[in-house]
Amino acid sequence: MPGNARRSAPSAGGELRARAHRSWEDEVLPALVRYTAIPCLSPDFDEGWEAAGHLTEAASLLGAWARSRAVDGLHAEVRARSGRTPLLLVDAPATGGRAGTVLVYGHLDKQPPLGEWRDGLGPFTAVREGDRLYGRGTADDGYALFAAVTAVEILDAAGIPRPRVVVLVEASEESGSPDLPGHLDDVDAELGSPDLVVCLDSGCLGYDRLWLTTSLRGNLLATVSVQVLTEGVHSGSAGGIVPTSFRLLRLLLDRLEDPRTGEIRLRALHADDRPATPQSPPSEWVAREAFPVVPGLELEGGSDDERLVRSAWTPVLAVTGMDGIPAVRDGGNVLRPSTTAKISLRLPPSVDAASATAALESALRADPPSGARVEVHVDNAATGWAAPPIDGWVDEAFTRASDEVFGTPPGSFGEGGTIPFLAMLTERYPGVPLLATGVLGPGSNAHGPNEFLHLPMAEAVTVATARLVEAAGNRSTGAAG
Ligand SMILES: [Zn+2]
Repeated sequence: MPGNARRSAPSAGGELRARAHRSWEDEVLPALVRYTAIPCLSPDFDEGWEAAGHLTEAASLLGAWARSRAVDGLHAEVRARSGRTPLLLVDAPATGGRAGTVLVYGHLDKQPPLGEWRDGLGPFTAVREGDRLYGRGTADDGYALFAAVTAVEILDAAGIPRPRVVVLVEASEESGSPDLPGHLDDVDAELGSPDLVVCLDSGCLGYDRLWLTTSLRGNLLATVSVQVLTEGVHSGSAGGIVPTSFRLLRLLLDRLEDPRTGEIRLRALHADDRPATPQSPPSEWVAREAFPVVPGLELEGGSDDERLVRSAWTPVLAVTGMDGIPAVRDGGNVLRPSTTAKISLRLPPSVDAASATAALESALRADPPSGARVEVHVDNAATGWAAPPIDGWVDEAFTRASDEVFGTPPGSFGEGGTIPFLAMLTERYPGVPLLATGVLGPGSNAHGPNEFLHLPMAEAVTVATARLVEAAGNRSTGAAG
C-alpha cells in the first residue's frame, strides 16, 4: 500500500469497524438465530421443499430484516416462481450521487445436518460460544445477507457516499445453483451491468486476515451401480459362486483411483498448470488443526504447503453415499443383489468438466467386471474456476479493509470446494471484477456437524464489503479514494 496518504479520514476505519460490531451484536445476531431455526435445506436434500415452504420462509425472514434497516429507499423482494427456488433481491439506491452498481451474492439454502452434532449443539438451534455462533447455515451462507446489508447501513450511517448495491440471495446453491441462471435472466434488465461483483460464500485459511479466493475446484457427481442378482440370496449358498456387488464396485472405483495413495488414474482429470507452491504464505494454517482428524492419522501430501496446493489443484475421489447396503444392525447373511455408490470427484480449476465426464464414463462403462450389470449416471458436472485478475482499486479496497480490521494485509488461496455460480457470473459479466471471500475457515465445518460462524470474521467481511462498495463508487465518479 502507498501509505496512509490516500485515507480520507484516519478515524473512519475505526468508526466503520465499531458500527459493524454493534450491528452484529444488537441487530444481526437475533435475526440470524431465527434464520438458523428454519430447516431450509437445499432442494437436493429435501424433495418436498416446495410444499414445505422453508426456503420461502427463510427468504421472507431475510427480506423483512433487510427492509427494517436504516437504508433510504431500500427495496427487498422475494421472487418466487413455481418449480423454482425463491430469490431474494435487495436493492439499495446510491447515495451522494455515486454512479454504478455493486452486486453482492449470497445464498440461503442449507446443507442437511450431516452427522452427529456435539452435545448441546444442533443444526437448527443457534448456540453462541464466545466468538462462535454454531448452527447449520450460519456461516454457509446465512451470514451473507446480513453482512451485505449491514455494509450498506454502516456506510450510510457514517455519511460515506456509495453506489447502488444489489444483494442477490439465491436458494439453490447447495444443489449446484440450477435456478440461478433463470433468475439472472429475469432480473437482467433491472440489474444492469454491475461494476463489481462480491461473492460472500467462500472460505479463509485463518481468522487473522481477510482472504481472497483465486480459484475453485470443479466437481463431478455421479452414481455408480453394480447389480449381480435379481434378488438377495443366502450368502452361505451363493458365496464363492456369485461375485459380490461390493467387490465389483471396488474394482470399478480402482479404475478411477489408486486405492493405496488416492492418486486419480484418469489423465484427463489432472491439470497441466498445477503450481508448485501456494500463493500466499499459509500464515498459521495447519492441516492437522484445520480438520478434526483422529490422533495418529497420517495426512496426505508431504507438507502443509503441499497440502494447500493439493487442496486447490489435485483431483480426488470421495464416496459420499451408498445404497443397497443395510445399516450394520440390520445386516444379515445375505448376498445382496446390488451396491450403489454416489461419488464426488473434485477437479482442478483448469480441467473441463465435460472432458472429465467423458473420461469417467468410459472408464466405468468399459468391460463390466464379471459381466455384472453396471449403471453409471452423471448427476452434475461443474467446471472449476480461476479468478479473473483483480483490478488495482479492488485490491486496494480489500487490502485496506484487512489492514483496518486485523492490521495485516489479506491473503489469497485456491479453494478446494466448488461454487458453480462463480463460473456462471464470470461468464455473464465478462471483464467485471469479481471478488470472492468468506468466513469458512478452520473448524467452521460448513458441510459437516458443528458448523459455526466466526463472528469477528463476519464483522471483518462486513467492513470489507463496505470498503469495496465505497471504492466502486469513488472509481465510477472519479472521486479520490
Ligand atoms: Zn455456500
